[in-house]
Amino acid sequence: MCFLMQAAPSDHVICARWVVPVMPEGSVLDYHSVVVREGRIDAILPTRELGEAHQNLPKVELPNHLVTAGLINTHGHAAMTLLRGYADDLPLMDWLNNHIWPVEDRFVDEAFVFDGTSLAVAEMIASGTTCAADTYFFPDAVSQAMTENGFRGQVCIPVVQFPNAWAESEEQHLEKGLAFHDSVRDSSLITTALAPHAPYTVSDNGFSQVVKYSAELQIPIHLHLHETKGEVEAAVDDDGQRPFERMQRLGLLSSRLQTVHMTELTEGEIHTLADKGAHVAHCPESNMKLASGICPVHSLLEHGVNVALGTDGAASNNDLDLLGEARTAAFLTKVATGDATSVSAARALSMATINGARLLGLDDEIGSLEKGKSADIIAVDFTDIAFQPMHNPLSQLIYAANGTQVSYTWIAGRCVYQDGRNTSLDVSALKTRVESWQKKIQSKL
Ligand SMILES: [Zn+2]
Repeated sequence: MCFLMQAAPSDHVICARWVVPVMPEGSVLDYHSVVVREGRIDAILPTRELGEAHQNLPKVELPNHLVTAGLINTHGHAAMTLLRGYADDLPLMDWLNNHIWPVEDRFVDEAFVFDGTSLAVAEMIASGTTCAADTYFFPDAVSQAMTENGFRGQVCIPVVQFPNAWAESEEQHLEKGLAFHDSVRDSSLITTALAPHAPYTVSDNGFSQVVKYSAELQIPIHLHLHETKGEVEAAVDDDGQRPFERMQRLGLLSSRLQTVHMTELTEGEIHTLADKGAHVAHCPESNMKLASGICPVHSLLEHGVNVALGTDGAASNNDLDLLGEARTAAFLTKVATGDATSVSAARALSMATINGARLLGLDDEIGSLEKGKSADIIAVDFTDIAFQPMHNPLSQLIYAANGTQVSYTWIAGRCVYQDGRNTSLDVSALKTRVESWQKKIQSKL
């Protein structure tokens, strides 16, 4: 049963067949329970050791389920879920210049962002994601859609040179973004970051301002970087510098930097990332679909760079299933390196959880099941014959399951999804709004 149509998170005990705490990596606990009090993990212990102190707490019995930490999607554009399937099978710059940017120009407003983000949040909650980093215009609407649905997020402040429905200039993006940052300062679910879109859409002055405010406010910088070989070559043709060199010169490289994609990297750049403690959000399915390239995940991990996972927007994926993304990340690295031992199932789960928390600077709070951390927890149902026999639950989770097997999602102790039902939002009303956006977009093409 779900206890969570309540204002406060309920105290309860989740009794599972398997608990995978994420830390230490690869650990699988048989017949264990997770005790949740006041939205936090109070204890993880063998179910048979539950005692008097737990007697009066409601129990969630999960006899065929694996329970683990909520998944963390470290890169996306939630509102673009309204453009899922709108333009496929195109290379990045053609896709952006001739399809995505024109349709965004015409339709993006506050309502578009709120409805698109609500759709993405509903999908993410249902497939086990409990926290996402998001970059889009109208961050207030992104934040509102996340908060209303009890979802955790890093809502980025977008910065680009070109005018759009939200802001006219880099200066105005920053001005409005800082006001947004102030408005969510006390939120328990929302953090912020500055997101200069990419080296090819932001000026040197824009980057310098971003670096200044990031240091002042102690918030991360989230940046698309080296997404394709073409991007790097065009920059070198233009001013003789690789975008990475330019970012380094402008002072972006630090442990607050979250780079996204990174398909083109030299050995020296990998060393610099490791030295500076900068993070990488790897989006394998988007990179594959747009034929952007392959991020050298194996080498980054070997050098000690923190690599997490992102789906990117649903317009270039086309789903937001992070379990699927973890499987793709493992497979792609194996094929890219010719080494089947690289990115194991356990490592892929770490990338989808604790590494994501580290990238967001939230690893004291989320990313693993540990006493004192927020109760961001998912349960995956292994009843189906597709998961038998159960030689290795962690292997089944990454290599055999996908988001549709997620049967419970809790965020800060609140149950937001149970057995096919989002408990925090009205999905049928949302579907009606989404359908009306589809008709509107189609009719004006
Ligand atoms: Zn992106």
